[in-house]
Amino acid sequence: MIIVTKPDATEEQIAHIVKRIKEWGLKAEISRGAVRVVIGVIGPEDAIREKPLAAIPGVDSVTPVLKPYKLVAYEFRGTPSLVNVGDVPVGGKEVVIMSGPCSVESREQITSIARDVKKAGARILRGGAFKPRTSPYSFQGLGPEGLKMLAEAREETGLPVITEIMDTKDLEVIERYADCLQVGTRNMQNFALLKEVGRSRLPVMLKRGMSATVRDLLMSAEYILNEGNFNVLLCERGIRTFETATRNTLDLNAVPVLKAETHLPVVVDPTHGVGVRQYIPAMALAAVAAGADALMIEVHNAPEFSKSDGDQALLPGEFEDLVQRIRAVAAVVGRDI
Ligand code: PEP
Ligand code: MN
Repeated sequence: MIIVTKPDATEEQIAHIVKRIKEWGLKAEISRGAVRVVIGVIGPEDAIREKPLAAIPGVDSVTPVLKPYKLVAYEFRGTPSLVNVGDVPVGGKEVVIMSGPCSVESREQITSIARDVKKAGARILRGGAFKPRTSPYSFQGLGPEGLKMLAEAREETGLPVITEIMDTKDLEVIERYADCLQVGTRNMQNFALLKEVGRSRLPVMLKRGMSATVRDLLMSAEYILNEGNFNVLLCERGIRTFETATRNTLDLNAVPVLKAETHLPVVVDPTHGVGVRQYIPAMALAAVAAGADALMIEVHNAPEFSKSDGDQALLPGEFEDLVQRIRAVAAVVGRDI
């Protein structure tokens, strides 16, 4: 249930509304807008429906949310949310580009690529230190050493860092070095991990499970918000279909659907969504046209030596060229980069 307060509701009245909700054993989540305060009432919908919420002084309207997700629902905020990654806001007019290698491989590799992508126009540096690999015999990432290298690359370039978390026990060390947590496709429904990152001070980018529906993605995001962390980005990264010409099928339908269903910013990762270098630029441009708030694009300066996902990494020059074209498409749809 969503309560919208009257424009002249006093702080005492708002506190009283919250007190009443809590007395009924329900949870209240407050979102403050410029004029009104929106209070999400969380609990069993049937139990909430019985309560005389509209009778509490200061309440203007009470709207049932018939969707299974509440805190992520667009109605909860009534306006798109801005999520800061370091000092970079995502969800505003600017289409933010996150870029870097799939994995951190060495100090030289990550700093050199960080310099390249920054020069081309990227605003956030990506790089995996803990890698979720299909085979246990593949490169698993440099772990904490990789995180330190990412932090050094940030030091040098000023780019905030996003990196993947796979295990709850790694949260503390990742929080020490990174600016944003990434929950990967394989962990979208790792509920213990979702709850843990929901208690983190860092923003979280949640990637869509490769076999998950948009609703599953939103329900997983709800776990994170329900623990108190509202700084969540949702990322479409391709789903598994019968198609084999590309690694995955980038579901760009998800972009307008998510923009309508949730206030959270939407990121598109055409790199994993397509998985074939030559097709990535077209889908990056299409994602911006569809309304993506940010893009995640893998770049490597020597893909043939890359320890993961070399086939889908753009070269720095290709990336620079793509950013110019993204700038043109962004302008057409009323965005900047
Ligand atoms: C990645 O970003 O490198 C990655 C492993 O992504 P995904 O979880 O989408 O496969
Ligand atoms: Mn990758």
